[in-house]
Amino acid sequence: MSALAGAGLDADLLVVGGGPVGLAAAIEASAAGLEVLVVEPRPAPVDKACGEGLMPGALAAVRRLGVDPAGADLTGITYVAPDGRTRAEHAFRTGPGRGVRRTELQARLAEQAASVGVATVPGRVRDLLQDGARARLVLEGEGPASLTARWVLGCDGLHSSVRRLAGLDAGSDGRRYGVRRHAALAPWTSQVEVHWGRSVEAYVTPVGPGEVGVAVEGPRGTGFESALAQLPALAPRLAGAAWTTPARGAGPLRQRVRARTAGRVLLAGDAAGYVDALTGEGLRVGLAAARAAVEALAAADRAPSPSAQAAAVAAYERDWRALSRDYRTVTTGLVAATRLPAVRRRLVPVAAAVPGLFGAAVEQLAR
Ligand SMILES: Cc1cc2nc3c(=O)[nH]c(=O)nc-3n(C[C@H](O)[C@H](O)[C@H](O)COP(=O)(O)OP(=O)(O)OC[C@H]3O[C@@H](n4cnc5c(N)ncnc54)[C@H](O)[C@@H]3O)c2cc1C
Repeated sequence: MSALAGAGLDADLLVVGGGPVGLAAAIEASAAGLEVLVVEPRPAPVDKACGEGLMPGALAAVRRLGVDPAGADLTGITYVAPDGRTRAEHAFRTGPGRGVRRTELQARLAEQAASVGVATVPGRVRDLLQDGARARLVLEGEGPASLTARWVLGCDGLHSSVRRLAGLDAGSDGRRYGVRRHAALAPWTSQVEVHWGRSVEAYVTPVGPGEVGVAVEGPRGTGFESALAQLPALAPRLAGAAWTTPARGAGPLRQRVRARTAGRVLLAGDAAGYVDALTGEGLRVGLAAARAAVEALAAADRAPSPSAQAAAVAAYERDWRALSRDYRTVTTGLVAATRLPAVRRRLVPVAAAVPGLFGAAVEQLAR
């Protein structure tokens, strides 16, 4: 007999991780009529290393959930070469995105989740058991020791425990890392500026009238001082500015995943696989995946037979591949190409010389 046979259900769906994707999934699931609990170990508002640029499509997805976070309008993307003069600029045709502090985004989504009846349970997932009918999370922390539901959706980020416990991890190449902090500065542009250095990039995102976020990406050990030494056009802008947050890191960024589903467990957001932050699409793809996962679970619950139910869950893998295809292809290609010093040196001059191509690429990100 299964270890879970006869166990009572605490909810229809357990969402692991109360980051933006987990909270979005919980709001979607509640709207679909599922009883849902979010499991999150950290108190709100939860922070994370992020460039904090909501592209226009991601902003629309958040608004669709009834959330309109405070921040600064983002009108496009500018690539800047180390000399500061060579620049490629493109203004979004679809209207602005928004630079939003992570704490603001998470707090507003958490409020909205609570207002539609989603409870958040404190706890960190330590183990996962499942049979054909239900899944159980074993938790560590102040909350319950375990929770049982018909479905688990792992939205627990880059280093997802759910992914590992479900046997879906396929490793990381460990090459690129990110670190982010904020400076008390009036934004000098309404665009996200991407400064390209020899081996690092810096993303400058206005997040409010007197604050900019600066995220730096590069090889292991990349820090602010070493990055700014490669970015003479950016360093003077930040010289003497008061930092308002400590450096917060993330990585390795590349996370390979065997599949998005394993029995009663599904993955969304960074937990489902991540390429790189280079194209600023993590939230757009994660929010779309949250919606697709909940649609799959709702369809599985309506399915008339176990095989129809399995087919409904399997459809999520296809949907996830389709909705993340452009991101995976473009970002993987750009990361690989810009590993070559000659390509890296010529990227901004070429983008500036062929504005139609650069604009088309930016519009892809804006969707
Ligand atoms: C440097 C950098 C810059 C970026 N810039 C951008 C950008 O400009 N625009 C953009 O769209 N994306 C950007 N991204 C990507 C974006 O940050 C992620 O795609 C996004 O945060 C994914 O959200 P998530 O909810 O899946 O995961 P997370 O935000 O990581 O949330 C995961 C949650 O799970 C919880 N958790 C972890 N382990 C457990 C456990 N065992 N049990 C229970 N809970 C657990 C965590 O506490 C956390 O709250 C950037 C990323 C980096 C690293």
